[in-house]
Amino acid sequence: MQLLDGKKTSNDIKNEIAIEVQSIKAAGGKVPHLAAVLVGSNGASLTYVGSKVKSCQEIGFDSTLVSLPEDITEADLLAKIKELNEDDNLDGYIVQLPLPHHIDEQKILLAIDPDKDVDGFHPTNFGRMALEMESFIPATPFGIMELLERYKVETSGKHTVVIGRSHIVGRPMSILMSRKGNPGDSTVTLTHSRTKNLAEFTKNADIIITALGVPEFLKGDMVKDGVVIIDVGITRVDDASNSKGYVIKGDVDFAEVSQKASFITPVPGGVGPMTIAMLLKNTLLARKMRSAKK
Ligand code: NAD
Repeated sequence: MQLLDGKKTSNDIKNEIAIEVQSIKAAGGKVPHLAAVLVGSNGASLTYVGSKVKSCQEIGFDSTLVSLPEDITEADLLAKIKELNEDDNLDGYIVQLPLPHHIDEQKILLAIDPDKDVDGFHPTNFGRMALEMESFIPATPFGIMELLERYKVETSGKHTVVIGRSHIVGRPMSILMSRKGNPGDSTVTLTHSRTKNLAEFTKNADIIITALGVPEFLKGDMVKDGVVIIDVGITRVDDASNSKGYVIKGDVDFAEVSQKASFITPVPGGVGPMTIAMLLKNTLLARKMRSAKK
């Protein structure tokens, strides 16, 4: 069994990007600039946005945190989005989700300029991804593809079962694994909460990607020997014996499933750290696209 080490891989990617930023600077070019829009002060969102901004600083990107009040109107947020779209100094930005209930998330996502949509959530990018055209790929699925590629996991002709059909992980993952190319060329089954006899699918899978958010859902008797496991789940589970009062669990019963797996991502330290690295990679791509246009 080999661990797919997302912590190490994400550090490698950040180092590679930092070297590229240095050479852009040395050539007198403009370094990539990422902005993060945060509405309100949701604790988890603050943490996510904070680590995105910190990572930008570490690798030499410019970064801007756009902090807006919880009670901002939808119209004012749309005006801010327009401003960011028109800001020539900015290469890409993300709007941290979830947004407060009085704001229509879809309306906001649709207003983002697809050329600056480094989260890859705009329908233009999602459609381009499905059509195998160049696009921004949502960071978590992009990170999984990168892990599979760097660890040379064979995906061609394999049966991949994805559990979970969210727009940010499960569904894009099912598209990416079925696309032509390496990684890709898989035969994909996309399963979800309405799937009947899920274990019949997972037992026949060569690769299983879990993105459901149910701790230790996938058990040893649900998989075959040699399976490749990508565990996207991140759930806080109360644990009085831990100094934080909780532990982070994935969707996979690691102790059981790792006995049978050929490759497996740990939680934490697997898919999680890859997400920010790939957001940075998308921002570098956005910068390159903008400078090529000029
Ligand atoms: P979500 O919560 O939006 O949707 C969950 C999906 O799982 C749904 O499609 C549902 O049909 C399916 N599902 C739920 N229960 C099921 C069951 N018993 N059997 C089969 N399918 C079931 O999903 P999400 O936003 O993709 O998040 C999934 C998990 O991944 C969460 O734990 C989340 O924290 C984690 N996550 C991690 C990262 C990262 O590592 N950077 C990024 C995004 C999400």
